[in-house]
Amino acid sequence: MTSNLFDLTGRVAIVTGGYGGIGLGMARGLAEAGAAVVIADRNSANSAQAKAELEKSGRPVLALAADVTDKTSVTKMVSATLAQFSRIDILVNNAGISIAAPPEEMTLADWQKVIDVNMTAPFICAQAVYPAMKSAGAGKIINIASVLATLGAGGAANYAASKGGILQLTRSLAAAWAIDNIQSNAILPGWIDTELTQRARERRPELHDRILSRTPANRWGTPRDLAGAAVFLASAASDFINGAALTVDGGFSIQG
Ligand code: NDP
Repeated sequence: MTSNLFDLTGRVAIVTGGYGGIGLGMARGLAEAGAAVVIADRNSANSAQAKAELEKSGRPVLALAADVTDKTSVTKMVSATLAQFSRIDILVNNAGISIAAPPEEMTLADWQKVIDVNMTAPFICAQAVYPAMKSAGAGKIINIASVLATLGAGGAANYAASKGGILQLTRSLAAAWAIDNIQSNAILPGWIDTELTQRARERRPELHDRILSRTPANRWGTPRDLAGAAVFLASAASDFINGAALTVDGGFSIQG
């Protein structure tokens, strides 16, 4: 074992939805800690910029196109990673979407899209990396949930349900695969400044100040704020932590 508990040198991490936002913030942290990083998104337009940014760490970076809701596409993502690096040590299930509407107006299609990306896709990706992790005798799965995994969301029941679901998926994978030395843990971000929340703030101009006033840290989070939690849960420092939920929200969810 390395003397630095957080050292990821020689490890290979896949970060879904890693071309921007929280995914890129965590990918940067993992690369700085020594990991080779694979980022995968549907839209390859931003891949060159994200790849160039990550390569500043000096670590190898692979940018792939993948739709995480499509099992064939995920199988290709895993094969391409193994072809390039011969191993997968860390999977970060970060890709996610939000489609807001009150429950009485939400279409079944919008319910299903959010469940597919936020809850079913992490299951597909975890299943796809399992054989490589099992045969290597170790692995780390990090699922990006949300503080809305445990709080209700009147305007986004699909999103809150999907994030509650990924939390239970995390615990179930932890219970099933602990015997294979694979740890599965969840990160619950609070309100982080990304494209996803910029869209929410455009729809609801009062949102920005409402979040500030409820957050003891008195600021919105940044993608960089998630890097430390990702490195911790990807590293030997968390080897006996399994099925846990780590909240990263500046104190948002402790307020009564
Ligand atoms: P962004 O919208 O900035 O990034 C989401 C990423 O997911 C995009 O790069 C998107 O790329 C990718 N993605 C979406 N659908 C798919 C798909 N089917 N296959 C592959 N990639 C896909 O969002 P954030 O960075 O804010 O969010 C990242 C994660 O963090 C999400 O799971 C979100 O729910 C969660 N989260 C965010 C919070 C916040 O305040 N921002 C708070 C709590 C949780 P593309 O569309 O090109 O495929």
